[in-house]
Amino acid sequence: MSTICPYCGVGCKLRVNGKVIPENYVTNRGIMCVKGATLLDTLDSGRVTYPLQDSKEITWSEAKEIISRKLKKILRIKGSLGIYIGAQIPTEDQYLTVKLGKGLLGTPNFDSNVRLCMASAAHSLKFSFGDPSPTASYDEIERAETFFLVGVNPASNFPVLWTRIISRRRKGAVVIVVDPVTTDSALQADIHVKIKPGRDIVLLNSIASVILDSAKIIPEGFEEFREIATMFPPERVSQLLGVDKNVIISIAKRIMESKTIFMWGMGVNQTYRGVDTGILISTLAMITGNLGVPGTGVLPLTGQHNSMGAREAGALAGMLPGLRYVNNEQEVREVEDYWGIPRYSIPRSYNTITDMYKLMEERKIRALWIIGTNPVISLPEASKFKDLLSYLDLVIVQDSYLTETAREADIVLPAATWSEREGIHTAGDRTVGYLSKLRNPPGEAKPDWEIVRELGVAMGFELEYRSVEQIFNEFKELTRGRMDDISDMTYDDLKYGHRWPNNQSVIQPRLFRTKGIEYETDLEIETNNLFIITGRTKMHWNTRSRSSKSWLLSSLGQDDYIFLGQEECSKLSVESGEEVEINTNEGQIKALVKCVDWVSNNTAFMPFHWGRANRIMDWRADPMSKEPAYKMLRAFVRKA
Ligand code: SF4
Repeated sequence: MSTICPYCGVGCKLRVNGKVIPENYVTNRGIMCVKGATLLDTLDSGRVTYPLQDSKEITWSEAKEIISRKLKKILRIKGSLGIYIGAQIPTEDQYLTVKLGKGLLGTPNFDSNVRLCMASAAHSLKFSFGDPSPTASYDEIERAETFFLVGVNPASNFPVLWTRIISRRRKGAVVIVVDPVTTDSALQADIHVKIKPGRDIVLLNSIASVILDSAKIIPEGFEEFREIATMFPPERVSQLLGVDKNVIISIAKRIMESKTIFMWGMGVNQTYRGVDTGILISTLAMITGNLGVPGTGVLPLTGQHNSMGAREAGALAGMLPGLRYVNNEQEVREVEDYWGIPRYSIPRSYNTITDMYKLMEERKIRALWIIGTNPVISLPEASKFKDLLSYLDLVIVQDSYLTETAREADIVLPAATWSEREGIHTAGDRTVGYLSKLRNPPGEAKPDWEIVRELGVAMGFELEYRSVEQIFNEFKELTRGRMDDISDMTYDDLKYGHRWPNNQSVIQPRLFRTKGIEYETDLEIETNNLFIITGRTKMHWNTRSRSSKSWLLSSLGQDDYIFLGQEECSKLSVESGEEVEINTNEGQIKALVKCVDWVSNNTAFMPFHWGRANRIMDWRADPMSKEPAYKMLRAFVRKA
């Protein structure tokens, strides 16, 4: 039996037969990484198997009665319910929650945890090309001649794609990495441009200025972009960037003269200028002809295996199923009509999790329903978020594992996990795949769609679905005629993977749009202040709810440190193994130090898996996508 790996957006297909082996599938071509290989170790420990109230087992009937009674009372006050859902669950389950939350309950407070990872990329793609989707698929890796990677470390976070990139490099392709940290990817790249956090915009404008210098015709609408970009010639910015001007010129020439794929990741998305930076990268693809032909395109890499499905299901705040948007009245009406609900049932305004946090502080949100995500570890100001939960009238956590967030809940609902439920997902390159059920969930755990349906029915709504396939059939009709159209697909078809639109690997965008993007001077950092870049490590995944259950991953991935450059260690008079105190406006933590040579002066790297870093992270975010700037935390560090 086969199914798809539940970790990252590569979406590897795996054969499971007492052990896990990779299949030769459209996204992974017979390769997998250690996380996929250890999946069977993660199924039994730390699971929630029965509904819990204040940590005590209760029956499903009791859980539903308590929740529906309390929610009915809370919902008398408009806007008092928040729903926050993870992108680890199948598309059908997300879709049904969207229908109940945004459509039937009409709450404006509904967001996906994709807000924390891909919101900036989705915004920039929508702005540049008219759709929030990549123009290239993973197939183009084997056709590309140059890989231009900004703020992404596939060697660590997308090992299957990296194996393919490196094999292409052996055949002559060039790998360019832009990253403030000497990551595993940077170490193996042909060119590593190491710049300070926040200066991507200077570098990208400068590369554009070289390209525009030799361009004979500038497309209509690109005048403002040209005006700004040409203010950043390499000779002028090379000192600010600490990069030789010839390096900038040679990068520009390389992407002009070769088939280039542009990839980016959290190093771009999780900054104050994530959307603008994404637009700049997309513009480089536009002005160098790297769109719509094999071996080219833009392909931001997706951290969660169903982050794209979250967009299709409409789980992100501001979105609706079929890649529709709440700010498009016609699109909202299409969904209302399809669901058969009265006009204006779906709120025309929306709040992201960033806004919902403030509404919790203001005591306007009184109940929070958290599905398949662990915000007590992953959100900024994580400790305060945990405190805020205690002031709510009702906290429902629906999860497969007893996470740090589940421990704070009034009611915990046990959910099925990987290999225990059926459904679909969409990999980061638009490949929709089928998720098989290979075993029964433990105890009384159920697939998320069943839990959502039962709670909806308990609250008096008609949600008479008998199978997940019935939800799939309803959902896919909402994609008919849309970019993500899978309306003619069946579960059997999707077992082989289907890339929308029309199984196209490369998309010719329907829109080419850009704007001038100015550089705002760097954030000041004072003596002994550092930029802390938070991120993932090779052996763990997000908040470790699943990966910590694997003995192998846990024993190999013990990186709960702050990683400081050698120069910084000398400045602070600390050595590896000693402790430092890290202070920000949000609080103070202590962490053990590792002195390394891959982090530059004035920066530090801290994995977020263990929850330490996000306790002192602030809520500053990209103004358009509202994605928190996890990569740019300013902190004062001293020896403890
Ligand atoms: S973690 Fe990602 S790369 Fe590794 S097996 Fe799973 S889907 Fe593939």
